[in-house]
Amino acid sequence: MHLDHGKSLESVKRCIDIGYKSVMVDASALPFEQNVALTKKAVKIARAKKCSVEAELGSLGKIGDARLTDPKEAKLFVRKTGCDCLAVAIGTSHGAFKFSGEAKIDLGRLREIGEVVGIPLVLHGASSVDSELVKKANQFGADLHDTAGVPHGDLLKAIKLGVAKINIDTDLRIAFTAGLRQFLAENPDRYDPRDSLAFACEQVKDLAVRRINLLGARNRAE
Ligand SMILES: [Zn+2]
Repeated sequence: MHLDHGKSLESVKRCIDIGYKSVMVDASALPFEQNVALTKKAVKIARAKKCSVEAELGSLGKIGDARLTDPKEAKLFVRKTGCDCLAVAIGTSHGAFKFSGEAKIDLGRLREIGEVVGIPLVLHGASSVDSELVKKANQFGADLHDTAGVPHGDLLKAIKLGVAKINIDTDLRIAFTAGLRQFLAENPDRYDPRDSLAFACEQVKDLAVRRINLLGARNRAE
């Protein structure tokens, strides 16, 4: 089990106490020194229980809007906190509307960070929001427009530059919703939620398998 975006030491501690082997402490909204201080405390608690810690530096969002991760700060942050992996801001964002116009993430910055930190990097907000997926959802009654995600090619480049964990959630949510809408539209005589939800869950599973294969994560323990 992994805790995503733990915002307080209490939530991090609670998860570690009940046996999580991995936690994220997300103090990225705080000023640098406070982020360092909170992350450092989380690392100390986690170490004692052999739990790994993901931290975040910078704020996610479109290039131009976001506070992208500074490579020099990242190096200092990792040295000061002792975190095991680092989530970076290079232009990705949570949700289905990541870019207006061209999908662009700052791979040059990612390369620089990767070269200086010496630990695995993490990409949040990395769904591809593929047009076929959105088209399918819309075909069965959704109304999703102007969606944009991270192209598959950029994810593969990011892996080469040191990214070891890629967080994909929006794609799974859309797959679920599209599947649920499809089942209900195609089976107007069925009323058991166990059937419609099972079908929707299968669509999530299929998409997860496709992403695992695409990103070369198949049969890799870590
Ligand atoms: Zn996230």
